[in-house]
Amino acid sequence: MRLAERARTLSESATLRVTRKTAELRAAGREVISFGAGEPDFPSPPVAIEAARRALAEGFTRYTAAAGIPELRQALAARYGERWGAPWTADETLISVGAKAALFQLMMLLLEDGGELVLHMPAWVSFEAQARFAGGQVVSAETSVDDRYAIHADTLIAAMGPRTRAVLVNTPCNPTGGVMSAGQLERLATACAERRVVLIADETYERFVYDRAAASSAAALAARFPETVTVVGSFSKTYAMTGWRVGYVLGPRALITKLGALQSHVTSNPTSFAMRGALAALSGAEDDVRRMIEAFSLRRDLVVDRLAAMPGVRVKPPAGAFYVLPDISALFGRRIDGSVALAEYLLETAGVAVVPGIAFGSDHHIRLSFASAEAELETGLARMASALATLGP
Ligand code: PLP
Repeated sequence: MRLAERARTLSESATLRVTRKTAELRAAGREVISFGAGEPDFPSPPVAIEAARRALAEGFTRYTAAAGIPELRQALAARYGERWGAPWTADETLISVGAKAALFQLMMLLLEDGGELVLHMPAWVSFEAQARFAGGQVVSAETSVDDRYAIHADTLIAAMGPRTRAVLVNTPCNPTGGVMSAGQLERLATACAERRVVLIADETYERFVYDRAAASSAAALAARFPETVTVVGSFSKTYAMTGWRVGYVLGPRALITKLGALQSHVTSNPTSFAMRGALAALSGAEDDVRRMIEAFSLRRDLVVDRLAAMPGVRVKPPAGAFYVLPDISALFGRRIDGSVALAEYLLETAGVAVVPGIAFGSDHHIRLSFASAEAELETGLARMASALATLGP
């Protein structure tokens, strides 16, 4: 068999690999506490489940329009209009098979022949894999634990050049929890529009912001920069609906129309009854969302508190999302020579699964998700503390 050149450097998503390894160990009888998975432990909203059940019972099981059901496109456009004053219509809104497919399709439409995607780092594993698969390359702008990984416009603008085809901001960010303020977003959106470069804002975690901070969204800038501002979102995290696979994109009409054409050849529509469930969640699950985010806020404090007490672990409270990315490089020595070695040590010794930071472009870190029950977090962190305490040089 001869694989295409673009398949050569492709490997499994590091976060999904941790999920798979954890499942394998559990199947073999090991008790493992996982801080690996990027998914809320909360159940999907009852209104979504009921709506999907009804859709199935009514026989809503056939292909729909490739760009998604009109009611959901309309409802999302209306929601972004009300919340952020965005001018997008249903035609400028596409429903995708999770945000992941939307992002991949965007990269396929925007990048080619080494065209550059400007991206802040550390970053979610799939951005670079997708960009490269599409024939592009990533130019990175660093963020730092010192200012809680805040995303600054100037570093991204400085990374732009003649080959830049898109700038991607992921706010709040997986894996850092960093956010971009409304002012910084405005500065970046202005620079992108001046250069006619598409600004992709991946706002998959938009509702997960803590400390009563004001949320920000690039959608608030869409009316001013209708040719370039593009927002990607998802039902996965906000509504604890990861397995349903419903995401979306709102943006310039020409781009959304092309995305619809591409999607019609790739996935066709997202699952019909899942979209009915998503529609119900959008209008009827606000209490579920609030409850979950309140719980996550408390968990964040707990995790940061426990990690900060571990020698050699440097951590600051993440402003958003549901991950912490502590710097663990002070633990490096003869036995541990990087984030993969530390993750393996924690899995072997403590039965705790974390994701090595190298997967996100930084070998000095590990990522822990705090989207699991408090008791599990307590036990896992206590086991991690004693494993690190016994770690000799
Ligand atoms: N974007 C970011 C930053 C993510 O962390 C994820 C999932 O982990 C996604 C997009 C994809 O989400 P989904 O495809 O489940 O909507």
